[in-house]
Amino acid sequence: MSFGRDSDPRFGSFVLRGDCPTCAGSLPVNGAVESVVCGACGESVSVPGRILRDLLDDFEAGWPRPPSAGMARVGAVQWRWTSRPLRAPVCPGCGEDVRVEGLAEGSVPCACGATLHVEPVPGPLQVDVPSAQWLFRLEEAPVAEGAPVAMGCPQCGANVILPGADERLARCGHCDAQVTVPEALWRALHPIRAAHPWTVRFEGPSRRTVEAQAADAARAEAEAADQARRVVEEAERARAVEAARVAAEAERVSAEAARAAEVTRLAAEAIRTRRIVVVGVVFCLLCVAFFVAVKG
Ligand SMILES: [Zn+2]
Ligand SMILES: [Zn+2]
Ligand SMILES: [Zn+2]
Repeated sequence: MSFGRDSDPRFGSFVLRGDCPTCAGSLPVNGAVESVVCGACGESVSVPGRILRDLLDDFEAGWPRPPSAGMARVGAVQWRWTSRPLRAPVCPGCGEDVRVEGLAEGSVPCACGATLHVEPVPGPLQVDVPSAQWLFRLEEAPVAEGAPVAMGCPQCGANVILPGADERLARCGHCDAQVTVPEALWRALHPIRAAHPWTVRFEGPSRRTVEAQAADAARAEAEAADQARRVVEEAERARAVEAARVAAEAERVSAEAARAAEVTRLAAEAIRTRRIVVVGVVFCLLCVAFFVAVKG
């Protein structure tokens, strides 16, 4: 079965379990839940949001070939999961595709007798993985809670009321003996839950696609700004070149004018010099004429 990169919607099947930090028993996580109760020792173990987020996020990032398995330790608990892409939600009871008409919270029966529960992916998880929108999981029979459970005291035979569904030790109110809930009763109250695959329907661009698109847009914007900056710089450079040319031209014109003025000044000086020479020569001639006249 192959899947397109752009498939929309996309479906993923997940099996998630942890190891009980108290008894090392298996902790199946059959859906996006906040905590699970160990069927073996009654310990309530919270499911870190990070585990569910990474599970779905890695699936989306890897689409159309998401990682088939993964594991992570958070605190004292080792979590392991498998995932695989699907064409449609699958019945955890029989493994067949389940036809889901419309998307609304509720139950969808399968021909095999199992019931699939349809619910929106919890808000906080959807904030982290926005494309994860609907979750399909096996509807498990609810564990009887609240009703007091009594058993016979092995010492005196009086009725012992169990203090809580998750406590294995009780005290006989009649003879004060400490009573351990027998295995058979404990099992009946805490059936070992099997890990059932659950399906998530992903729709729309994944977080990483959105981030990649935003990065592309930012890059295009930066390129446009760069281009605009280059145009402004080019215009400034052209303006500076033109101003330098105009200044050089003005300098050339003024130098020419200065040269012309110098030529004019020299010409005037030459005329003055010529006048002085003419006057001198005329004076000399007059003097000579005077001497000649006196001698004669
Ligand atoms: Zn346990
Ligand atoms: Zn089925
Ligand atoms: Zn007793």
